[in-house]
Amino acid sequence: MQKAIGVDLGGTHVMAAVVQEDGSILSRHEQDLNDHAVDKVMLAIEQTIDAALADVKEKSVVGIGIGSPGNIEPRSGMILYSPNFQWTNVPLGEKLRGHFDQPVFIGNDARCATLGEYTYGMGKGTKNFVLLTIGTGIGGGIVSEGSLLLGNSAGAGEFGHHQIRPTDGFICNCGKVGCFEAQASGTGLIRHAMAIQASFPRSALLDKEREKLGTKAIRKAAQAGNPHAVAAWNNFTHDLATGLANIIAFVNPEMIALGGGVSSAQDFMLDAVRNRVDELTTMVPRGTTKIVIAKLLNDAGAIGAATMAFRGGLTTVHAA
Ligand SMILES: [Zn+2]
Repeated sequence: MQKAIGVDLGGTHVMAAVVQEDGSILSRHEQDLNDHAVDKVMLAIEQTIDAALADVKEKSVVGIGIGSPGNIEPRSGMILYSPNFQWTNVPLGEKLRGHFDQPVFIGNDARCATLGEYTYGMGKGTKNFVLLTIGTGIGGGIVSEGSLLLGNSAGAGEFGHHQIRPTDGFICNCGKVGCFEAQASGTGLIRHAMAIQASFPRSALLDKEREKLGTKAIRKAAQAGNPHAVAAWNNFTHDLATGLANIIAFVNPEMIALGGGVSSAQDFMLDAVRNRVDELTTMVPRGTTKIVIAKLLNDAGAIGAATMAFRGGLTTVHAA
């Protein structure tokens, strides 16, 4: 069976996996990233890929795909801007192509994950598909008639930064007010809980140290009926539904799959958003977009990056 190396490059670690063409992972190699200097990150990427390549016969590997945060020029693999690494204009593709014999493809991590979920996850069998990853931020991607949409400069699918509360929302990492990401990511859920704390003076929900405060604790408390948590969860899912309805108005996909850490809430989350999304869906026929939980979970990034290598690029038009 043909194989590809899929690399999930994140702010804190890099993971290279050997992925088979049926989407299964044969092996994985990880390194922590403590230093974001370009040469240090490059070395970690090369070492994890070398370790993955050592697991298999070289000839069976059709390519190497790397999913990285940031805005990336798909043909050259130039990272134009990555806030996670504080990088501008880093020629990652050019550097890595000098090191490996196999074709190297670089794409935005959320776009790669979309391609992976479309090919091997919930999107299998659909033609018009959206993935939304809800973690500390919100990322995503759009598949239209079987092709990933990149837009004019690879920015299509940046759902996290459309504003849903520009006058009364939380300040986003990007500097704008009330971005979808600021309101409806995991960080957004915690901010919703903080924002209404004064209304629940006896609540112990936020008593934990800031670093230990997680979204899971708030969600579980909401499921158990804690009034502070229920109110925060309602505000959070209300904002999530607003963004989902907007995506339906822009793209009207057959399916939106919700991935990322926060999607572990499963039905508790889906039940909260589906009715509200219907209420907010006006011109597009209601119920024509299914909202589901994504399937690939933590491996979506690596499998997605390998999918890009199997397909010869995020879109064949931009193949290297
Ligand atoms: Zn933003």
